[in-house]
Order: sequence, then structure tokens, then C-alpha cells
Amino acid sequence: MTNMARTKALVNSRPFAQIRDPRNRRPISAALLVDLLRNLVFAYFILRHLTKAYRQLRGRGLIGSSVSLYQYTRSTLYGWFLSAPGVKGKVTAQIDEALGKLETKMVAHGPGTTRYLALPERGMDKEEMLAELTKLAEMPHSKWEEGMVSGAVYHGGDDLIELQAKAYQMFSVSNPLHPDVFPGVRKMEAEVVAMVMSLFNGPAEGAGVTTSGGTESILMAVLSARNKANAERGVTEPEMIVPKTVHAAFDKAADYFGVKIHHVEVDKKTLKVDVRKVARLINSNTILLVGSAPNFPHGIIDDIPALSALAVKHRLPLHVDCCLGSFIVPFLTTNGFPSPLFDFRLPGVTSISCDTHKYGFAPKGNSVLLYRNRALRAYQYYITTTWPGGVYASPSIAGSRPGALIAGTWTSLMTIGREGYRQSCHEIVSTARFIKSAIETSFGDDLYVLGDPLVSVIAFSSKTLNIYDVADTMSELGWHLNALQDPPAVHIACTKPTVAAKDKFISDLKEAVLRVKLKGEGAAKGDTAALYGVAGSLPNGSVVRRMAEGFIDLLYKA
Ligand SMILES: *Cc1c(COP(=O)(O)O)cnc(C)c1O
Repeated sequence: MTNMARTKALVNSRPFAQIRDPRNRRPISAALLVDLLRNLVFAYFILRHLTKAYRQLRGRGLIGSSVSLYQYTRSTLYGWFLSAPGVKGKVTAQIDEALGKLETKMVAHGPGTTRYLALPERGMDKEEMLAELTKLAEMPHSKWEEGMVSGAVYHGGDDLIELQAKAYQMFSVSNPLHPDVFPGVRKMEAEVVAMVMSLFNGPAEGAGVTTSGGTESILMAVLSARNKANAERGVTEPEMIVPKTVHAAFDKAADYFGVKIHHVEVDKKTLKVDVRKVARLINSNTILLVGSAPNFPHGIIDDIPALSALAVKHRLPLHVDCCLGSFIVPFLTTNGFPSPLFDFRLPGVTSISCDTHKYGFAPKGNSVLLYRNRALRAYQYYITTTWPGGVYASPSIAGSRPGALIAGTWTSLMTIGREGYRQSCHEIVSTARFIKSAIETSFGDDLYVLGDPLVSVIAFSSKTLNIYDVADTMSELGWHLNALQDPPAVHIACTKPTVAAKDKFISDLKEAVLRVKLKGEGAAKGDTAALYGVAGSLPNGSVVRRMAEGFIDLLYKA
């Protein structure tokens, strides 16, 4: 008899009737009860797996599911191959060799450098200290000052830096954990949130927090959605649905907080997330939908109005990642640039992350997370009432926080003001558009722009050349661009410093394309081409993962 049939037989058998029949109070035998329970557990187990399989099929389709299965199998087999005797040692040797090369580049102990591996016995005096700091600031580096770095430094103007340093100095000991000791910091933090809220057309009930950066804002948005779904709907196996192009911080959040993450393909032409595919993946475990405005890889704004409609229909939270868009996207319309709706004016949008430390030009270590209402914000709070150290309540991950950075942020927002941000949006977006049209018109078939970017990031690739070779040649010319994968491409995120370097960027790019063509395919590979050549050709990420681990280790090599 199959288990299902047995369950049925059991349900119909006399002992079961005995339970339900109040006239017959004879207890059912323990063995039967155990049997019944076992069958129920079995049925539950089968049902769970059937539901999962059904959801996978409905969400990904037959072809999508088969592709996933194929990739999983291939990756597993390859994993076995890599750990096979004979192979394992060789792989390790090659990884060590590559990391050795990286170390010579990254951890430069040139002549005249002193390594400090323990506290100096006697503290340095002011003069010595300043000399030492100057040496550190002047170590050979990519030239952000000349606008040759993608992203990274968003403003860099001396006057602003001076004011920020002044603010830092005045509030250097402050900590928002103690609002009674530092009331000025509490006021500034609340006002930073209010100012950003007004930029994103937040409703009167809107509420927000500041965090240490975009990643923490995203972690908190996911945590809030997870806690909300658990408290209000009893969801214990949370899932979120994100565009494939979303920032890696969402993967981090999924990993940290035990949320299953579904990456959805983007449309091949527009590079916006395929909203119909998002819809297919929604089920009763879904806690959050996500769109970017714009995304990091290609600078493309997803179809937020369509995602909002979907969120409203299914009564799900929708987070808009505006970390990068920050103080640019809200000023597109004022500047006469095309801009879709992306903020709280759309009824489905429940939270928005905005990095004040990107185009808000605040010092690094500040971002704002906005919610449509206070209840959503409260789901990210951490409170414990039983700690021997006292009742403990904190809004986000950190306990103590740097009030000095809040002062620096408030100072930046207040000195630049609406007009200043309007203007910087104009300069930066104009620069991006200049680069976009130059790539489209001056490189023939060699380069093309990915999608139709409306903001500050321009991603490009090539049908005739290895784009990573182009990136490496740009590095030789002093540029620091971002390499992208899946598909292979490169991007430049325009900032205030790049505005002045835009002509040089295009002429150097022409030079780079020419050099790559002259060298031909067989030439020795640069770092980017080598790394992404390996990454793209291997069935799983284990080798690249080990390289990345080694890279992080090097960050801490004194
Ligand atoms: C920069 C960025 C983030 C967050 O990054 P942090 O480095 O943690 O500030 C999130 N999303 C996008 C699209 C970004 O560009």
C-alpha cells in the first residue's frame, strides 16, 4: 500500500471514527497514533516538495528550470574535477602565483617606506605625523584628481572638503547613540532624512534613517520586509525577487538574513528587468520586489512604474535602489532631461535607498533609507529589554555611530543646496550623454553602448574586440574603469572630476581601441582580461572565489 493510500485508509478506519464519536470514549492505540502522525508528516513532506517544484516550474518555466538544472549539474561535476588528486595541487599553485603577482602590485613596500607593525614606543609629534600622513596620501595611485577614475570620488572640490573637515572637527567626539549628550547631531541627522525625503516626494507619514552606506541601507530594507512578512503573514521561508542587474548588496542581504533571492533576466534590448518574469515568480513566500534607479552595471533605470503596479496588485513592498541615482535622478526633470517616475509618487514604492555619500557629495560613510510609513521603519529596529546593560534600542546595524559624519553630511547638503545639485546633475549628465554619443558615433562597429542610459553611468562593449583588452589598455593610459561581466563590458560612472576629462576620455579610448587592434588576439593578457577570461570560461566560481578571498586577505597585509 502506498503511503497516501494508507493515510486514506487510516482516516476511514474505525479508530479515527472513534476519536470523533463522543459516545465511544475508548482510547485509540498508541501504535495507530504514531502511524497516523508518520503518515501526516510524510504527506506534509511530499506536499512541500511538490509545492516547491510547482513554484520553480511556474516561476522559471520548463526551459528555465532545465537550464538551471543543467548549470547546477555542470558546476557540481566541475567542483569534483577541481578537487581530484593531481588537479587540486595544480590549481592551488596557479592561484598562489596569481596572488603573488597581485601582492607585489598592491602591497608596495618601496624604498623609504617604514612598516609599523606595533604601536610606536613613543607617540609621534605633530610634525612627524603630518609628514607621515603626507607620504601616505601621495602614494602612487589612480588619478581621480584628473578625473580618470570611474565613480569613487564624486565631488572632490577643495572648498567642500575644507568645510567637511571643519564639521568633522567640531563633532569629532559625537555619537548619535547619546542624543542627550549630542543634541545637535540628533537634529542634523533628522534633518538629513527630512531633506532627502522631500527630494523623493515622500508622503507626510514617511519615515527614514541614515546608515553607514548603500549596503547597510539595502540590508535594512530587506530586513524590514522580512520582519514585516513574518509578523503580518507568518512567512518563514522568505523570498525576494530582484533584477539580475541589481547591486550585490541584495545578495549579501539574502545571505545574511536567510532570504531566498530570485534574479530575474533583463530585456535583451532595454536591459530593464523583465516585469512579466518578475510576476511569474511571485508566491505566498515573496516578501519584497526590487528595482534600481539606476543599476550599477549599466546605469539603466528599471521600469519602476510597472513594478509599482505589480507591487500594488499583490500587496507587496517594493524597494527602489536609488543609491547611485542619489542626488542626480531627482534633478533630471528640472534640468529638462528625460526621467521616468521612480519615487514615492508611485503608490507601490514602499522604500528607497539614496546614497548621500555618492552624488550627495557627503563624506564616505553615509546613506539614507526612506520608508513610506513609520511601521515599515520600525520593522528594522533592534530592541532588547532584558540586557543587564539596560534597555537597548538601536535603529540599524551599528551601535555607536560617528556623529562627525552626520555633521559632514548635513554640512554638504546645506552648502550645496538645491541649486548646486541641480547644476551638478546638469554637468554630470551632460558629460555622460557626451560620452554616450561619442561612443555611438566615433567608433564604427568597434564599440557600442549598452541600453539607453539616462543618468551618469555609460556601459559599453564591443563586437569586434575583447572589451577587457580595451579596459586594460585604458589602464595603461592611466584610467580606472569598471569591468562588468555577463555580458562582458566596461563602464564609466561620471562624476564632478570626470566632467573636465571627457574629451581626454574619448581620445584615449580611440587610442586604446587602436592599440588593441594592432596587438591582435594573441597578445599577452592584462589583469582584467586574465581575470574575466578565467571567470567567464569556468563552469563554477570556485577558482575566482579563492582569488577573491586572497584579494581580501591582501587588504589586511601590513
Ligand atoms: C553604490 C551602490 C550601492 C551601495 O553601495 P555602497 O558601496 O555600500 O555605498 C547600491 N546600489 C547601487 C546601484 C550602487 O551603485
